[in-house]
Amino acid sequence: MLADTKIPSLKDVARIKIIIVGNSGVGKTTLLKNFLNGGVTREKYGTTVGTVSETKIVSVRSRDIPLTIWDTAGEEKHRCITPQFYRNSAAVLVLYDVTNRQSFDDLTKWLLDVKTRTESTTSIVIIGNKSDLSSRVVTHYEGCAFADRYECVFRETSALNDDDIVTVFEELVIKICDKIERGLLPT
Ligand code: GDP
Repeated sequence: MLADTKIPSLKDVARIKIIIVGNSGVGKTTLLKNFLNGGVTREKYGTTVGTVSETKIVSVRSRDIPLTIWDTAGEEKHRCITPQFYRNSAAVLVLYDVTNRQSFDDLTKWLLDVKTRTESTTSIVIIGNKSDLSSRVVTHYEGCAFADRYECVFRETSALNDDDIVTVFEELVIKICDKIERGLLPT
């Protein structure tokens, strides 16, 4: 190794940018609020207009890592989600609603959008949300197979009821930190 080669370190991490996308109504804001509140979200949230960001610090390997998480309005995507919006994102969560076939069918469009506007090192997680509802129309297998096809991580969640949404984010941040330490992501 060259003497002046800088070894990436977590202490150099200024901020990790995570983006949440998906059709309107799939539960993006509820998922984010659940994570920010550290557990079950009982509040109901109105539809997000435009893009908003929230910040939370998570602790990984005894280091405090600041996250900025961007929530978006789905239907307005062509108006508010510009290529610049995706820039420097370490991870993108792509949500669909397991009770809404259209939101699952639209995943292909979202994936195309995300893959063409992010780096190959950006982590992509497909999330089938509202798993608590009995009116499911998209099976776990379908979600899993879709994620496999696009080489993404797959999770099913209930943003409203699950108390382990924090774990979904923490696992993702650990993965991102591993990439930073391997020099695969800018700090
Ligand atoms: P967004 O437009 O994607 O941000 O969706 P919201 O977070 O505003 O959620 C849309 C609606 O779905 C709201 O009424 C939420 O309370 C509801 N919702 C979100 N996540 C869940 C979930 O996991 N289970 C159930 N049953 N409802 C959910």
